Amino acid sequence: MADYKEFLSKVDRKLYHEGEWQWQEGEYTVTRTHQWSAPGCHNACGILLYTKDDKLEKVEGDPLNPFNNGKLCMRCLNLAEATNHPDRLKYPMKRSGERGENKWERISWDEAYNIIVPKIKEIKEQYGSHTIVGVHGTGRNINWQLPYFYNAGLETPNISTLFFSGFACYLPRVVGAAAVTGEFVIVDAAVGQEERYASKKWTVPECVIIWGNEPLKSNADGFLGHWLVQCMQMGTKFICIDPRLTWWASRAEVWLPTRPGTDAALAIGMLNVIINEKLYDPEYVEKWCVGLEDLTARVQEYPVEKVAEICDLDPEKIRKAARIFAAAKPAAVQWGLAFEQQLCCMSLIVAVCDLFALTGNVEVPGGMIMVRNAFGTQRNYNCGEEWLPAEAAAKKLNGDAKGIEESSIVPHADSNVILHALETGEPYPIKAMWIQSSNPLACPAMDSPRAYEAMKNVEFIVYADPFLTPTAVAFADIVLPVAMGPERNSVRSWWTPLRAMTKACSYYEAKTDEEIVVEFGKRLNPKAFPFKDDIDFLEWYITEDGNWPGTFEDLRNQGWAYWDYDATYYKHEKGLLRPDGEVGFPTPTGKLELAPFMYYQWNLDPLPFHLEPPESPISTPEVYKDYPLILTTGARSYEFFHSEHRQMPTMREFHPDPLVTMHPDVAEKYGIKQGDWVWIENHRGRRFKQKANITLGIAPQVVSAEHGWWFPEKEASSPALFDTFESNSNNVTLQEVTGQGGIGNPIKSSLCKIYKVVEGVNDSVSIGEQVVRGDYRDGK
Ligand code: SF4
Repeated sequence: MADYKEFLSKVDRKLYHEGEWQWQEGEYTVTRTHQWSAPGCHNACGILLYTKDDKLEKVEGDPLNPFNNGKLCMRCLNLAEATNHPDRLKYPMKRSGERGENKWERISWDEAYNIIVPKIKEIKEQYGSHTIVGVHGTGRNINWQLPYFYNAGLETPNISTLFFSGFACYLPRVVGAAAVTGEFVIVDAAVGQEERYASKKWTVPECVIIWGNEPLKSNADGFLGHWLVQCMQMGTKFICIDPRLTWWASRAEVWLPTRPGTDAALAIGMLNVIINEKLYDPEYVEKWCVGLEDLTARVQEYPVEKVAEICDLDPEKIRKAARIFAAAKPAAVQWGLAFEQQLCCMSLIVAVCDLFALTGNVEVPGGMIMVRNAFGTQRNYNCGEEWLPAEAAAKKLNGDAKGIEESSIVPHADSNVILHALETGEPYPIKAMWIQSSNPLACPAMDSPRAYEAMKNVEFIVYADPFLTPTAVAFADIVLPVAMGPERNSVRSWWTPLRAMTKACSYYEAKTDEEIVVEFGKRLNPKAFPFKDDIDFLEWYITEDGNWPGTFEDLRNQGWAYWDYDATYYKHEKGLLRPDGEVGFPTPTGKLELAPFMYYQWNLDPLPFHLEPPESPISTPEVYKDYPLILTTGARSYEFFHSEHRQMPTMREFHPDPLVTMHPDVAEKYGIKQGDWVWIENHRGRRFKQKANITLGIAPQVVSAEHGWWFPEKEASSPALFDTFESNSNNVTLQEVTGQGGIGNPIKSSLCKIYKVVEGVNDSVSIGEQVVRGDYRDGK
């Protein structure tokens, strides 16, 4: 804390124009705003944009902004290069050749409205609005704007992160944590406190487990990795659970390189130690938890030695980690996407919530705090649901979903059911898609070749993005140019503080997500879009959905606003969590439910258990014989956000090629040297190639591949599609294999073999071969 106070005392507040949102500095106009890397990332860090003649020239982190204290990742530092990139879409365009030919004709926005709006209306009338699928990706602050448009404008219940089977991203953690605690929880790195680490109310966490996550490279929703570095500097100890020796693992008290897909077993093993050695907080448990008896019985089925065998870990290290965590006051868990990308995801979430509940770390300073969107702007992916016609809502593609999928807590349609509809026309054909801020073929589509084939059956596709991506070239009938962050007015409220984004420049005819939503919404369903413009739309969100007491302009002038609710600790003791104002947690029992009641409702086992990955040395030994390596995919890098930034010269200079990381023993066994191109192939014959990165910092039986690769410098037209299938780790992942309740997908744990790409032997494959090679069915 002393460091932080010293840092604050050194910032020249006058030099940085405290209290102003825009000023002139020589030839530059400087705008104080919030950004995220163009256009992705889940945060909105404080930044100063230097513009000249309506063009972004340079950026600087805003040292006065308590959210990031002037720190920026290289993605945001490179914002000027991204924003001014010549390959950006400048105008709306309509396809002038066949799909995939990459032939386009420039049209005006009016022409775009005149083509798209009647076509959508015709489809609604002829087939029903439910035959349209609204697709969004992650980041870019579209989590309420696009759902509002899809629900209220397109009037479709079928909103999807397309082909992302098993809802394998973040939402399950939100839902599972809410089942145990009543709301979502995050590590308390002082984000709710305006004085941040200098706040007298806050306590430095004594221990944080970083579990299946790599903060700094990957900054989770509303959570900046630098905060944990700051905590480390103030004394926080770390336990790291990851098959790779990450930056965090190398600095951890204990590194547990668990076998991918066995995290739930590990969590239960730690619970076993904490319960059997009575290391939990008995007073806290007595007062605020329920379900210890059942949990105690379940953990007896998982003695530490058995868990160590399942996870390929040293049992003493499991005990050590559990004891350190239990003894620390306060302690917290920073969890990542690896949770959803394994089959027993919902079980793992409960087990980990039980770890911090049993040890008395919920709603305490420096522990796990329950946060809401700043100023009560609570609606996210369900935004606009009230406008959805009942007959359309009844046709939501969630098949015979029961329990959790049926509950309104999962607002999306089921990707697997959408895939089935695309492939078979059952229960009805998909007639149109609106894809905004997503590049399914290069990124979220599990079994990308299969998704590619399925999408051919859609009659009309609108695609909105800053760039022409493989998905756009393959399928778009109309493309709409989307503005980058510096060209946009918006707000960020996830989680706190409420932050304004202020438009500082523009780019040809690109429009912001909000402008596109409002303009098309007005034309499709005027009653639901009474908004004058984007600002009016934003004001509705912060003042009517939320309780921000001013206008958008007020927020812009102020920059950011902290909210008392998120700054308050021990909310359960103050009656601030429950709708009835009583003390306790907002769960059915009013307590932290170690075996959550909602899980019974959702037909899930409420007690944690381990489920072996569907492909593993144990569950499929016959496959393992010939495919002896465990493939884990989705490793993040500093340069890219999912499939974004591959066009940026600076990013490609740092990270020119996709990398598959392997242990030196593995490399030696297969005759692979650092930098060799390597095929990674599964038993279905699907494969992709990446460059070998050989390091001791990975468990010897695991290879870790990157995702999201395409090559904007390569041929655009089909079948090449910027070589998106050549290095795509999703060539080998699976649709339709999900965990309990249709949640979770074994993306982090499948089996593969690797072999060197050898010139003249297996390197000269035909363009597009990876699309037709192999199959998704077993044994083909
Ligand atoms: S977390 Fe990094 S990439 Fe994201 S907005 Fe902040 S500085 Fe930019």
